[in-house]
Amino acid sequence: MTPQPPYCPNGPHGPQFPALWKDTSLTGPNTPERWRWFCNGCGTYWEPTPEQKARFT
Ligand SMILES: [Zn+2]
Repeated sequence: MTPQPPYCPNGPHGPQFPALWKDTSLTGPNTPERWRWFCNGCGTYWEPTPEQKARFT
């Protein structure tokens, strides 16, 4: 079962932006943990918590 991404701390932004997007543009073969959350609603990047990194990486 895929875990549900968290909601934006600045939200809610409306039904078209229900949750944060996992941005993997910084990751590579040797750095799979360097992803960030991105909110399309307010254009903000969020650093994942250690618990979120363990669950979503
Ligand atoms: Zn937001």
